[in-house]
Amino acid sequence: MSITTDEVRAWIAENWDTDLTLGAWWDRLADAGFAFPAWPAGFGGRGATAAEARTISGALSAAGVIGPPAGNGPSMGGPTVLAHGTPDQHERFVAPMARGREAWAQLFSEPGAGSDLASLATRAELDGDEYVITGQKVWNSFADLSEWGMLLARTNPDVPKHRGISFMMLPMDQPGVEVRPLVQMNGIAEFCEVFMTEARVPVANVIGDVGDGWNVARTTLAHERSNAGGGRARGVVSVGAGGKAGNLDRTVGELTELAAHGTDSHAQRNEVLLSARTHIALARELGITADPVVRDRLVQYYVENQVYSWTGLRSRDNAKSGRPGPEGSTMKLQLALLAHRSRDLSLSMLGAHGMLAGDDAHAGGRYHMAALSSFAASMGGGTNEIQRNIIGERTLGLPREPADDRDIPFRELRRS
Ligand SMILES: Cc1cc2nc3c(=O)[nH]c(=O)nc-3n(C[C@H](O)[C@H](O)[C@H](O)COP(=O)(O)OP(=O)(O)OC[C@H]3O[C@@H](n4cnc5c(N)ncnc54)[C@H](O)[C@@H]3O)c2cc1C
Repeated sequence: MSITTDEVRAWIAENWDTDLTLGAWWDRLADAGFAFPAWPAGFGGRGATAAEARTISGALSAAGVIGPPAGNGPSMGGPTVLAHGTPDQHERFVAPMARGREAWAQLFSEPGAGSDLASLATRAELDGDEYVITGQKVWNSFADLSEWGMLLARTNPDVPKHRGISFMMLPMDQPGVEVRPLVQMNGIAEFCEVFMTEARVPVANVIGDVGDGWNVARTTLAHERSNAGGGRARGVVSVGAGGKAGNLDRTVGELTELAAHGTDSHAQRNEVLLSARTHIALARELGITADPVVRDRLVQYYVENQVYSWTGLRSRDNAKSGRPGPEGSTMKLQLALLAHRSRDLSLSMLGAHGMLAGDDAHAGGRYHMAALSSFAASMGGGTNEIQRNIIGERTLGLPREPADDRDIPFRELRRS
């Protein structure tokens, strides 16, 4: 029988205790199968249907408690390893991640391989029962706070570019891995460059077949798009996973308090767009709600947000049941367009004050910060142009983009 909201509420009343450490709370969520409900039992889930998963996350959000571990592992890595990994790999990688003990970085993009990811040049050469990795990755979110890297590396340069890639779990803490944080224009160093110089990965850490990494990565990317566009459950307090973030031994009471004041909130740092309600409140504060142009723009923004949010429900249901659908790209594109609209709307309402940042700015710089962060939405997880290509090819069935390098061995490709 399906779980009910009352049952989840009763469980929260019995288990949520502000003196618990974050680690202990995440253990409770995982043991109850409430961390990632659609995942199997033993991995933070209970094999729940999409509707049940929604009931559980809805009740957690309504209670304002800390949600399951956040980050790349839960949002895209876990579903990938569950789909393509062996039972041993599920135990080794997914089980600790589902309890928030280990964080994962996505080591896909390279200086010469972003949209054209299959052109990646990081090499993985077999040496006994290990791969030796040499190359550079870039724009890797939270790589400095991660225990594992989901690495795409080229294991065979003698076949066409999509075929010689393997997906493997790279231990980040080893001498051959150097992580350098990059400061973005919003002042936050969320992502990093990762340099690998003869770093080592056991063959046992290859997820899926050697040379089939492109196929494995497509699962990761589908979940990434779907999550990027699908948004987060409202109200739930989001805390990043992993030991390096330094939160596991803090109490959940302290962390919820910090989130409420926005001082250390993962959620606030990642605010790439602001809700219609926030914009309406801003218009009221500024005394401009009678302006017909402002009213028109607010209504338009409200309507687009509603459509986005309802499509998001469908997209999230698909993702939770392990089948991210084509809405993923539509949602991701829509999120990026809304983020830019949110930026333009709030800055135009603020007028000249919109040029101020930090404590001098309205609301302590919240609008300015979201405006500077809005660009992340149209690039991370694949740019708007790439989402349009995916929608055209996979959803509308349009002809594929012409490419003359699909059948040429990677070694023979001309690269800049
Ligand atoms: C906030 C953020 C977080 C990120 N996190 C990660 C991460 O954790 N891990 C990771 O591996 N990467 C990450 N990335 C990298 C991201 O995936 C790449 O930035 C993205 O795929 C674009 O690649 P690029 O920057 O190399 O741009 P390019 O691929 O060089 O694109 C440049 C421009 O050309 C356009 N273009 C390229 N090809 C086509 C085409 N075929 N048709 C039409 N237009 C095209 C693009 O749309 C873009 O406007 C992140 C990026 C951001 C902004």
